[in-house]
Amino acid sequence: MNAENDTADIELDIDGAAEYLNLPSSKLKGLLDRRIISPNWGGIDNEYRRLFRFDKSVSNIEQGSVLYKKDRSFKLIRGFPKIQRAMLLGPALKNHFSDINTVAVEEKMNGYNVRVTDIGGNIVAFTRGGLVCPYSTERARYLLDRDFFKDYPDLVLCGEMAGPDNPYVPKDVYGIDSLDFFVFDIRDNGHGMPYMLHERRKLAQEYGFSQVKFFGEFSLSDAADEITKIVRELGKVQHEGVVIKDPKMIISPIKYTCSQSNCADLRHALKFYNDIGRDYLFSRVVREGFQSVEWNESEAELQKRCLQLGESILRPMTESIKQVRDGTRIADNVQIRVKDPNTIYLYKEYLKRLGVDAVFGEPEPIGNEYLVKIKKQNQSTNDKTESMCKGELW
Ligand code: ATP
Ligand code: MG
Repeated sequence: MNAENDTADIELDIDGAAEYLNLPSSKLKGLLDRRIISPNWGGIDNEYRRLFRFDKSVSNIEQGSVLYKKDRSFKLIRGFPKIQRAMLLGPALKNHFSDINTVAVEEKMNGYNVRVTDIGGNIVAFTRGGLVCPYSTERARYLLDRDFFKDYPDLVLCGEMAGPDNPYVPKDVYGIDSLDFFVFDIRDNGHGMPYMLHERRKLAQEYGFSQVKFFGEFSLSDAADEITKIVRELGKVQHEGVVIKDPKMIISPIKYTCSQSNCADLRHALKFYNDIGRDYLFSRVVREGFQSVEWNESEAELQKRCLQLGESILRPMTESIKQVRDGTRIADNVQIRVKDPNTIYLYKEYLKRLGVDAVFGEPEPIGNEYLVKIKKQNQSTNDKTESMCKGELW
């Protein structure tokens, strides 16, 4: 694991890989030198280093893609594509899906994106950025039927890891006990083409995988009204929103979310205002503006929205400031639940490698698993608040 910055030990057949990727060898060499394509972190015994990840998109290959060799031939796990957002549902649906008659609606679950595939007989889980996440890998091995990967060694399962034992986006709203993997896409390892929606759902069901909820297919003329109803209901139970898809998966999907989910994100982000507040704030305020106009809100409804939005911004911030002023550092408290104690060690190493400042609690046995509480430190917010409390100027 410590040979990390040294690519010398990892052999990549540059000419072969360049040919497979349809790039000139000199370009690939440059990308490797600049570490735009680089070996994964080590894992145990550097086993993952031969899985080269794309830190940025290159030609038409998405960021987060992973290149490796299997039985002498190259394989490429494509990065999960970005999903564009509808701001005004009605116009966006008409404009984006103008070539088709019906759209399919699935729930957008709020967790983290994971791609799972078989590599050399083992299930491996990749984060959005193409890193092997040891926690997700352990969970995937335990949650998913191995036979799928024996039957379809060249498929990649894309899904959301959701639930409370989640080190990135913990959520209690789904009634999940620990963490589950919800399939929302099945793609080919190579060209990355997705399965058609109903075929994917059927295949996932055959292997007993959990899946994101399917709300139905709607004609383009009814879709905006139907989706608005769905989103209002999802908001009431603090779920995130929907992803609207071409059933054939030829046109790219688009997403649309509930106000309550925007506000929940803001409450979390503004607690750590100087670490992540900025990244969250503007886009979410703008979403609220568009939704309010599209929903043709009355003065009373608008006032309610203003209050909710303002509270989700200011309240968590004031709480953080008070807490730091009174001498307690703030932290993002998350937890993981593992079967193998070695996963704890690996996950610690992994976070270190990512530069995340995290303090791990003692593993607590629960059943045949271990629960580990993790305090992710948000240095910048703590430091900034402390210095303001001492009277320093912004
Ligand atoms: P993006 O770059 O895709 O916009 P983001 O990090 O901004 O990603 P989100 O706003 O959470 O992410 O929206 C996209 C993500 O939603 C996907 O990457 C996927 O992880 C998640 N997702 C949850 N449910 C679904 C679903 N049913 N279909 C597709 N993606 C889903
Ligand atoms: Mg998300």
